[in-house]
Amino acid sequence: MARTFFVGGNFKMNGSKELITKLVGDLKAAKLDSSVEVVIAVPAPYIDLASSIAKGSQVQVAAENCYVKNSGAFTGEISPEMIKDNGSNWVVLGHSERRHIFGEKDALIAEKAKFAIENGLKVIYCIGELKEEREANKTMEVNTVQIEALAKVIKPEDWKNVVIAYEPVWAIGTGLTATPQDAQDVHKELRVVLTKLVNADVAEKTQILYGGSVSGATCVELGAQPDIDGFLVGGASLKPEFVNIINTPQ
Ligand code: PGA
Repeated sequence: MARTFFVGGNFKMNGSKELITKLVGDLKAAKLDSSVEVVIAVPAPYIDLASSIAKGSQVQVAAENCYVKNSGAFTGEISPEMIKDNGSNWVVLGHSERRHIFGEKDALIAEKAKFAIENGLKVIYCIGELKEEREANKTMEVNTVQIEALAKVIKPEDWKNVVIAYEPVWAIGTGLTATPQDAQDVHKELRVVLTKLVNADVAEKTQILYGGSVSGATCVELGAQPDIDGFLVGGASLKPEFVNIINTPQ
């Protein structure tokens, strides 16, 4: 079964009403490959604005985080219900910046994903190893533990609402991209891991994105790898080349 090509943009903590209006407006006006799923993650205060502008186009909007409750005394957090109330059906969870700057651990990230899915969101679930871990040949061990945390708490049928983003931490925002072969090797192994932890059907159908310094210059070769189903793009998602990255399959 062919998996749909998926390109996510991760705006991180960037933007203003003016910039979001321009970026989403430009994307809406651009000629995008209609076969590609496009989801942009924007800071929480701009979810409503981005969703309103993107409405009726192929561009969908994601939140960059959420909590494991829908309301209550959790100062500073946002809930799946709030995300949906602002016109979005997606959330990015487990991004390396959440893991390493804000100390989020596998168990919490997996609980967030479970709660988000139970409340009607789709999840871009980020995993990836640190440079030291890759150098110590622990790449698959680390990524397996991160996926296992999720596999333990969601049901096999929930995986249709999950997209995995493999983002080696050493490649994020550094200009160092994994070689297409290195990325392909990990993606292929991740399907073996999914087969063991869940089942062969989920391993075959789950979209696995690559992330880490993806650019207009690197997207074609990466996107041609059989187990790379698209990208999660940080820095370049704020630039005009994002349209070229979305149009990788063309
Ligand atoms: P980058 O970020 O493309 O700027 O490396 C990717 C990400 O953090 O998702």
